[in-house]
Amino acid sequence: MIAVISAIALQAAPVESCPVELVVLGVAQDGGIPQINVQDDPAWDDESLRHRVVSLGVIDHEAGKRYLFEATPDFREQVRDLNERAGTSGAPDAIFITHAHIGHYTGLMFLGFESMNADSVPVYVPPMMAFFLTESGPWSQLVEYENIEVRELLSERVEMEDGGRYVGSSRLTGHSSDRISVRAFAVPHRREFAATVGYQIEGPAKSAVFIPDIDSWEEWGLSIEDVVQENDIIYVDATFFDDNELPGRDMSAIPHPRVSETMDLFQDYPDEIRQRIRFIHYNHTNPIRYEDSEETREVLERGYRIAREGETICL
Ligand SMILES: [Zn+2]
Ligand SMILES: [Zn+2]
Repeated sequence: MIAVISAIALQAAPVESCPVELVVLGVAQDGGIPQINVQDDPAWDDESLRHRVVSLGVIDHEAGKRYLFEATPDFREQVRDLNERAGTSGAPDAIFITHAHIGHYTGLMFLGFESMNADSVPVYVPPMMAFFLTESGPWSQLVEYENIEVRELLSERVEMEDGGRYVGSSRLTGHSSDRISVRAFAVPHRREFAATVGYQIEGPAKSAVFIPDIDSWEEWGLSIEDVVQENDIIYVDATFFDDNELPGRDMSAIPHPRVSETMDLFQDYPDEIRQRIRFIHYNHTNPIRYEDSEETREVLERGYRIAREGETICL
């Protein structure tokens, strides 16, 4: 973990040249890397092979504000990294959650009375998740003690776009600058406690899209090809590399577009389009977790990118 933290700290924050910056704070699937009960994972002994659970930070350097996408089980380290990078302290100015699976929201617990005891941090959540957080413990205590202020994206709807395909949108005015605009859109993904969304984050110069979990490109109301062409950077679900990844298991019933499938989809696009795609949310079984694997080489040679902790983009 030390290596990861210094990777972020070592890059000088280009405040003047980059007023709004995105920083990758985690890249792994919900269970993290190494994953519990995988006793022989080399990352237990070699910390440089570890990866934190998927999360992005966005910093408005001019306003001194920072926003966190997902509240993961690695929330403590990720908030530290975000503050380090922003030169600030305290809880994020707002948190955006994609859905109610453990890797994406359970870090909220650290905002509570037993830990940080934060004061009314706005937490944007997909439809149905406000009910889940408000009505079930231990999350309801965060609401009751006003550690968090839950804002359901549907009720926050400011602009509907593209015939309603975006479920919600927030310009972040009121508690931030208007340099950053965040929109949520519906994403097909197992709905246990709430719906799932992805986010489009627009800064003064560039727009990034964040889709850490999706069941398939086909079931989606939007076209991934359009989204890639309309935005500058797209962080996409890379849970599994291909169907050979879980030996002895028929993977055809397991959702998530495979990395190999997404690469095939954009095979004939120009380099400039392909390099917008950055794979994120990789499972501990996905060989792209290793910098030096054959699969990592293949992804890079084909013109795609793999998201790594500490990577920054000027938005
Ligand atoms: Zn996930
Ligand atoms: Zn999920």
